[in-house]
Amino acid sequence: MGITGCNLACAQTGHITTVSNEGNIRMSSTLPKVHVAFMGMERVVATLTDHDILFRLLSTGAAAQKLGGYVSYVGGPGPAGFPDGPEAFHLIVIDNGRSRILADPAFREMLCCIRCSACLNVCPVYGKIGGHAYGSPYSGPVGAVVTPLLAGFNRAADLCRGETLCGACKQACPIDIDLPRMLRELRFRLAEGDAVWDTVPVSRPEKAAMEAFSWLTTHPAVFRAALSAASRLQSLAGSSRDSLHRLPGPWPGGPGPGICAESAGSRSGPGGNS
Ligand code: SF4
Repeated sequence: MGITGCNLACAQTGHITTVSNEGNIRMSSTLPKVHVAFMGMERVVATLTDHDILFRLLSTGAAAQKLGGYVSYVGGPGPAGFPDGPEAFHLIVIDNGRSRILADPAFREMLCCIRCSACLNVCPVYGKIGGHAYGSPYSGPVGAVVTPLLAGFNRAADLCRGETLCGACKQACPIDIDLPRMLRELRFRLAEGDAVWDTVPVSRPEKAAMEAFSWLTTHPAVFRAALSAASRLQSLAGSSRDSLHRLPGPWPGGPGPGICAESAGSRSGPGGNS
């Protein structure tokens, strides 16, 4: 039995389409006697015209190609007596949380994603840390939104907090999916609590601290005065010029693994943030 995924399916013709650049999918769908394809329920498009538009966007968004390396249109088992193709074909349509996404107007847009990965190619976070750091098959900006939606907000809460909200993903997306808006919405639901997505509000002290910081940053005169006072208080921590060598109060500690490179006497190179 050969098992594959499915990039698109067309309701008008009844076929599914698989795309790969290595040919591995085609081996699984033609050599074994049985072909089983798993398809997320949002993969179906109505007509062949819709299918072709999305298919071109997929190839272009993924690798700037007009056409993927190996494209297969699968319409069922091979004809009797025909040497190629499986004797049986099964298409398994998966919900796995997609109905819940569909029911929430704030996240419904995510079901339009064709998984082209154009947003990954431009994301400064993904570009630095790579795909494995996301701990899920879906990485990058699309993964930061779709993984909490499919696996649960609480299980994947850190993903939506690690994005810069620079907006590059929205600009690159061929479908114009507003990932930054949904990242903000995820953070809001995690902070305020949401019964549908099973999240609880953050603690009162944390909320109060954030509200105070928000108030401070929206009052420039007070903010500048606070910075100036903090700068003068820095001398209490034994600082010299622009470096902190020792924390005051209950956090004195000492030079150790956590101390910054600059205060340990070695400055990182251009752009270094150690
Ligand atoms: S969010 Fe947009 S750019 Fe990213 S994978 Fe989905 S369709 Fe492609």
